[in-house]
Amino acid sequence: MTEQKPGDGTPFSDWTPIADAAARATQVLHPQELSLPKPPHRRVITVANQKGGVGKTTSTVNLAAALALHGLKVLVIDLDPQGNASTALGVEHRGEVPSIYDVLLGEISVKEAAAVSDQSPNLWCVPATIDLAGAEVELVTMVARESRLKTALTEEALDELSPDYVFIDCPPSLGLLTVNALVAAEEVLIPIQCEYYALEGLGQLLNNIELVRGHLNTSLEVSTIVLTMYDGRTKLADQVTKDVRDYFGDTVLSTVIPRSVKVSEAPGYGQTVLAYDPGSRGAMSYLDAAKEIAVQGGSADEQEAGE
Ligand code: ATP
Ligand code: MG
Repeated sequence: MTEQKPGDGTPFSDWTPIADAAARATQVLHPQELSLPKPPHRRVITVANQKGGVGKTTSTVNLAAALALHGLKVLVIDLDPQGNASTALGVEHRGEVPSIYDVLLGEISVKEAAAVSDQSPNLWCVPATIDLAGAEVELVTMVARESRLKTALTEEALDELSPDYVFIDCPPSLGLLTVNALVAAEEVLIPIQCEYYALEGLGQLLNNIELVRGHLNTSLEVSTIVLTMYDGRTKLADQVTKDVRDYFGDTVLSTVIPRSVKVSEAPGYGQTVLAYDPGSRGAMSYLDAAKEIAVQGGSADEQEAGE
């Protein structure tokens, strides 16, 4: 016999998913009750895919916000002249505000350009202004043009902010801005949209990553693939998911980000989906994805225990 919940006749078994969802919503709303491991070393993660509109910025800001909600310190570098990451984090990026452009020119430090996001005191963003649109061309004649971001992100420069995670949101191109991001990071996170042309152009991105690894940054690796905008109603989404998992194996997060209206509405309010609708499926999935990323990177405690 199925147990009944007192009062309303609903079998207990039917309450389980609702109770799970409620528990997870509570976690988003009361993140202090949770803890995610602090990484043994600062993790610098470049979010890249030269294909436009695949969820680079959405993944950057929501993963960053999820980690920050758990008390980890996160710095987002907006390296796209569109300034979408700055918008989603509610950080001013118009007019004369100090920005990543000034940092690449070597005129100011990352610390001077970083603004705290109104969504968490642990979340910082170096905004991109429209000036950055010229940087792709201006960088060509600069000294050490591929490593200007790396130079700006030295231990010393980051000392005061001391972020546990740095996420770099790339523009949809493989130009010098993306190369700077690949040279400055140890990890690449590639968002892949669950749709027909998803894998097209990925070979080119992987080739570029190999080239950078061979010549400019030997420690670079593709650490994470995130499947985005999954629509369970289509067979195609499952086929793409399968193809990506067959090709990339364990690098692909088991959490898949669903296509969700809330996720797409949030930036319009200058918010991440975690702030805009913490209990939504989109918020939950980014929270789960962030947990996987944090666990995949190990913890400072584990490292100390092993020493
Ligand atoms: P670009 O190449 O222009 O920088 P991008 O790769 O950064 O684009 P996003 O800006 O993150 O991609 O997403 C593209 C569009 O899809 C945006 O309008 C965003 O709100 C929407 N979007 C992203 N993820 C989801 C999702 N899970 N559900 C619904 N809409 C989404
Ligand atoms: Mg973007």
